Amino acid sequence: MRPFTYTRARTADEAVRAVSESGPGARFLAGGTTLFDLMKLHVETPSRLVDVTGLDDLSTIDTAGESELVFGAMARMSDVAADPRLVRDYPALSESLWKAASEQLRNVARVGPNLVQRTRCEYFRGGEPFACNKRNPGSGCAAQDGIHRGHALLGGSEACIAVYPGDWAIALVAFDALIDVLGPSGQRTLPVERLHLEPGTTPHLETVLAHDELILRIRVPVTPLGRASTYHKIRDRESYAFALTSAAVGLQMDGDTVTDARVAIGGVATRPWRARDAERALVGRALTPETAREAGDVALRGAVARSGNRFRIELGARTVADALMIAKQRV
Ligand code: SF4
Repeated sequence: MRPFTYTRARTADEAVRAVSESGPGARFLAGGTTLFDLMKLHVETPSRLVDVTGLDDLSTIDTAGESELVFGAMARMSDVAADPRLVRDYPALSESLWKAASEQLRNVARVGPNLVQRTRCEYFRGGEPFACNKRNPGSGCAAQDGIHRGHALLGGSEACIAVYPGDWAIALVAFDALIDVLGPSGQRTLPVERLHLEPGTTPHLETVLAHDELILRIRVPVTPLGRASTYHKIRDRESYAFALTSAAVGLQMDGDTVTDARVAIGGVATRPWRARDAERALVGRALTPETAREAGDVALRGAVARSGNRFRIELGARTVADALMIAKQRV
């Protein structure tokens, strides 16, 4: 591991100033569950770490509001997942956190930094023997002709097909969540759906955040769609594994008829993927296994498969369909 300096910030302003003044080699340090891994692999080589875990005012969870739920970025995943209102009224949000990691990791990782976790692509993490445009722009993409069983079906490019690996962001995108961000020139707000970038020709740029912008909090609008919701995750084993496919869905129904729907999918795209065409395919129709499956097919429409990951188109469509039928039971 290369040498770096360590600073513990006392306020969010101080943290942003420290990272900004230190240049692009500086990083915010939260739970460290991704960053320390990547430092050991020499994929991340920061010159300075600014620790923000002690910022108590960013750890607040407020789910009592009438118009929005508010999660401080430094709240622990396990604390947010166990929040009683979330468990009762927004099971998709709670389940996305329960299913995201082992208990030990949930107790350390924070909900803000979790949004900007980096890809699990083996070639990205494998280091120098492998061509990787994300790690070393212009070097190529070993996954295109390599092992790509877990790579993206949607949103990829010739330069990169790495999957966005998170769960929490998928549920947040389904429910139109926002983030407040602090940078050197002040605060701004943006939808979680606009946080992540598709790789295009610049896969090393993963989000719209500058390196010295800190996520302060996540805000989720209150909606009746939360009650009948679920986060359904399919993986190689039932614990401590990333999604092969996943779906966050929410429903509002009048009798058997869907009056409103939310569908976002994970494990299959280069960024959290809201499937609005699938939502439109559901509204005004009775929700049956057949219409749920149709919505699943619509959600995966446009998928570009390679030999090793083709099976996940069918799996993704079934995941959406199953999630919808689970959510229906909660109406
Ligand atoms: Fe690198 Fe992306 Fe290709 Fe993986 S898929 S090797 S992260 S460029």
